[in-house]
Amino acid sequence: MLINKAYKFRLYPSIEQEVLINKTFGCTRLIYNNMLSKVKEDKSLTRFDMNKLIPSLYEEYPFLKEVDSCTLRCAIFDLVNGLNKYNKKQGGYPKFKKRGVKSSYRTNFISSTYKGKVYENIKVDLKRNLIVLPKLKEVSIKGYRNLSILPGRIINATISKVGQKYYVSVCVEEEITLPQKREVNIVGIDLGVKTLVTTSDGTIYDNPKYLNKYEKKIKILNQKLATQKKGSKNFYKTKMKIEEVYRKQKNARKYLTDKIVNEITKYNDIIVTEKLRVKTMLEKKNNSKSLRKKIIAATFSEIIRKLEYKCIWLNKTLVQVSTYYPSSQLCYSCSYRDRSMKDLNKREYRCPKCGSTIERDLNSSINIMIEGIFSYMKNKLEIV
Ligand SMILES: [Zn+2]
Repeated sequence: MLINKAYKFRLYPSIEQEVLINKTFGCTRLIYNNMLSKVKEDKSLTRFDMNKLIPSLYEEYPFLKEVDSCTLRCAIFDLVNGLNKYNKKQGGYPKFKKRGVKSSYRTNFISSTYKGKVYENIKVDLKRNLIVLPKLKEVSIKGYRNLSILPGRIINATISKVGQKYYVSVCVEEEITLPQKREVNIVGIDLGVKTLVTTSDGTIYDNPKYLNKYEKKIKILNQKLATQKKGSKNFYKTKMKIEEVYRKQKNARKYLTDKIVNEITKYNDIIVTEKLRVKTMLEKKNNSKSLRKKIIAATFSEIIRKLEYKCIWLNKTLVQVSTYYPSSQLCYSCSYRDRSMKDLNKREYRCPKCGSTIERDLNSSINIMIEGIFSYMKNKLEIV
């Protein structure tokens, strides 16, 4: 089976390369914003139409010719992708991109053969710690010391800058052999605000304290930013600091969600979760505590997203039960429904019917597992 995987390296450009990278950030932003204002006037503009407009922009902004033209088409692709998502109600309307402390651009892999010689615009040499990128030529990289070559065909590369650091993420198409399918162990997973993850076998993953620490830091820095003069040196410095804390927080979250998903997929064959309503989680009058809620919602969707692709790679089964399934109200033992459990403060399920007592989230995760078995079996019977 073919899968797409990203390899992210730290990038060490020379001063000249740095200048060109920053120019490309500016040019892709210009194309994106220019096309966005055009599409606001004429909704019928397609990606094809926009690509055809590039030559006229070359005349207006001659410096666009200096950068890798593929990045400009990628910017258009991203804009159209954003518009499509908006039309399908999967995201907000694209916004104009501002010059900020975080920038990125993407370029596609192109290979051609001329007089029997193969030319490739992106090449990774892990022995020499180099990447060849369009217009930039050879740039030093660091990362993946245990790999000698990238295991697959390069699709594209995204160059980004966070604070003062540069990165390149190389997307590769890899062939993997699927492990044999096993259907022995089943687990239900409850995602919660109080306890991040509770599994039906009783494992608990908490939201670690350090995630809160970053949250506080961001809050304090934002307050500081509000008192500083916009565009001043100190304003910019604080902005960089905020970006750095965000990056650390993102890394910490990545580490946590990787650990959770790796453990769950390692020991289980059928994994049952609830379908997430991240959007409603964010929309519904939660905005008062927005930052914290946003972080939790982001962690949830990251876990689900990772479970989705990990289950494909490892040939495991992921079952998602309906969001409306009342997992917290049912008794795991006798299936009695206690509607008063809607109250999130009730941390324990005491069954009025059979007398079972169990921790709230554990009860939910067992119910999710039970519901998962039903829907899994139903699906199997339908296929047969
Ligand atoms: Zn009961």
